[in-house]
Order: sequence, then C-alpha cells, then structure tokens
Amino acid sequence: MSVFAAKSFRNHEQVLFHQDPASSLKAIIAIHDTTLGPALGGCRYWSYDNEDAALDDVLRLSRGMTYKAALADLSFGGGKAVILAPDQGGKTPALLQAFGRFVHSLAGRYITAEDVGTSPADMEIVHNITPYVAGIADGGAGDGDPSPATAWGVFHGLRAAIAARLGRGDLHDVHVAVQGLGHVGGHLAQYLADRGALLTVADLDTDRLAWAKRDLGAQVVDVDAIYDVAADVFAPNAMGGVLNDETIPRLAAKVVAGSANNQLAEDRNGADLAARGILYAPDYVINAGGIINISHEGRAYNRDEAMAHCARIHDTLAEIFQRAEREGRPTNEIADLLAEERIAKRRAGMDEMQLRTAAR
Ligand code: NAD
Repeated sequence: MSVFAAKSFRNHEQVLFHQDPASSLKAIIAIHDTTLGPALGGCRYWSYDNEDAALDDVLRLSRGMTYKAALADLSFGGGKAVILAPDQGGKTPALLQAFGRFVHSLAGRYITAEDVGTSPADMEIVHNITPYVAGIADGGAGDGDPSPATAWGVFHGLRAAIAARLGRGDLHDVHVAVQGLGHVGGHLAQYLADRGALLTVADLDTDRLAWAKRDLGAQVVDVDAIYDVAADVFAPNAMGGVLNDETIPRLAAKVVAGSANNQLAEDRNGADLAARGILYAPDYVINAGGIINISHEGRAYNRDEAMAHCARIHDTLAEIFQRAEREGRPTNEIADLLAEERIAKRRAGMDEMQLRTAAR
C-alpha cells in the first residue's frame, strides 16, 4: 500500500495506522489540515473490501472536513477516522475502548464524532476513554442530535439559492421536491411548509409519507419520480450520488439545495448542472449546520447562538453564487477555491506572526 501516492492523498499532514490485537481493532486516522484548529471529523465503521479502500475513504473524507470547517467559519481543521470492521467479533466495547485510546494518544490534535456505522452509544464508550469526542449529549451542554441544526442551515442555504436563481425573497408558493424525510429532511420539510412552500415528497418510509401528506399538505410521488417533478427546488436529503448523468437531464428544478452528503456522483457533474442553468448549493457548505452546532458545544452552549451561526450559511452561499456567476464557473469549484483561500490566508498570517516573533 502506498500512502503518499494514494489516489486521494492531497498534502495530508498526518496519517496514522493503529491496531490492537486483543480487541481486533484496525483503524486509520487521517489529519488533513490543522491550520484553522484541531482536526474534527467523525469515525466511520465499515467493512472495506481491502485496506486501500479504507485508506482512500479516510483521505477523501478528512480533506472534505477541512473544506467544510473552513467555509463554516469554524476554528477546526479536517480529520476523519475509519475502523475496519473485523471478520469476527464486530464492534465490541473493547474495540471502541481501544479506538478511544488511539484518539487519546493524539492529545487533541484529532477530535472524533459519530459517523456512518457508529452510534451515539458507541461514542459514549469512546468518550469514557478520551475527552476528544464531539457531539455527545452532555448534560445539557450540547444537544446530541445534530439534525435540526443541519436542517436549519439547509433551510437558510435554500433561501440564498432561491434569491440568487429565482429572485425570490420569501418561500410562499415556492415548490420544493423533497427527497427523503428522515432526521434532516423531515425538519426541513416542516420549516418550508411553515413558510408557505408547496411540497412534493418521496421516501421509502410510508409512515413518513403519511405524516407529510397529513401534517404538511405535501403531494407524494414514487421515489424514482421525484427527479421529474416540475418544482422550483430539488432538495436531496437521502443518499449520495443522486446528481449524475442519468438524473441531471431529468431535473426540472432550477435549484438544488439539500442535506445529503456527496450529492455529485462526480465533480464534473457540477459543471453539467451549471450548463443546464441549475444553481447547485454545494453539499458540504449547505449541510454544515450539524458540525456548526457541535462547535458550539461545551459548558457555555447557547442554542440561539448556534442556530444563528447555522443561518450564516445563507451568506456564505450567497458569496459563492455571486462569484460563480462572475467567474462563469460551477459553484462546487468556487466552494473549494474559497475554502483553500481562507486556509492559505490564515497560514500566511501565522507565518508572518512567527517571523515577527523570531525577529524580536
Ligand atoms: P436519515 O437516515 O434519518 O434519513 C434518510 C431518509 O431518506 C429516510 O427517511 C429514508 O427512508 C429516506 N430514503 C432512503 N432512500 C431513499 C430514496 N431512494 N428515495 C427517497 N428517500 C429515501 O438520514 P439523515 O440524518 O436525515 O441524513 C440525510 C442525509 O443528510 C444523508 O445523506 C446524511 O449523510 C446527510 N447529512 C446529515 C446530517 C445530520 O445532521 N443528520 C448532517 C450532514 C449531512
């Protein structure tokens, strides 16, 4: 296995491999960039086909966290952990405790959290070993579930997108096609309906559909038909890869704004959306509310301040949309560029400070 030449290696600061034979833990932590602060990012537990696939995942995801934190105005860098699911034994408390010791050995350079395959209960076990765990429901100091905050950020991002693309300052009668009514999609649909938006929804869960129909007055369509709905906005809140060569030509909406991670099947699909005149709110910018909320946790957690910070996603996206328009480039490219510029600016500031200190 090669690390520096790996497909997703992009100047990562540190990549650590760890094993604990007693608990069958095999884990990798990737710290992509700590210019803005300690590396924050969830811990994924997954059955990877091989170690290269695990390395690729952790490298790609940790870099994404750097960009996400930078554009959310957080004093965090980007990191991520992956645990390679063992052939036998599974995700035991002993394995999670060993993972906690691995995280603790980094003395706060990496802060872990829940992710795909790990639960709040798992993170409690890790938290018993190390304080470097975020997103824990901590006796009122935070609020555990990031989904309402994520949905609040998506809601404000969506507002920025309809202002930029449709010239609309309110949501009255704006038609939104909502894919997925889970933790985030459900809250988002409620926020939208409360402000007079018209909803068409799709989900695999018939209970969620019945709720949206009854309580929000939503129209229901089959899961595959949601792309064809003649709506103003398509809001993907289920799985990744939904913006691809097959779906993009079908989209009737002028705006894509939703919470799902990794919405673009490939980066080039960002340009395909732009070519069709569809304004895309880059996923890691619009869905940052959860991590923003986590960044406010601690003894002085103030929900109003955390929610106000989530709402600033509106302004960040407005800046991205304006620049994309000015430079004639897809919004996903502009988001990456803006994140890189923010980090480079901070690094230059730090270098200058060091030089001044050395010169004294
Ligand atoms: P969730 O599992 O609670 O909800 C997903 C919903 O999508 C479920 O109701 C499910 O039935 C539905 N669904 C699955 N396949 C579908 C399909 N083909 N068509 C329509 N609906 C389908 O997940 P969530 O926490 O609401 O997260 C939604 C998305 O947002 C995910 O991509 C997640 O990674 C991302 N995200 C979530 C958060 C958060 O705070 N929860 C933060 C950032 C990003």
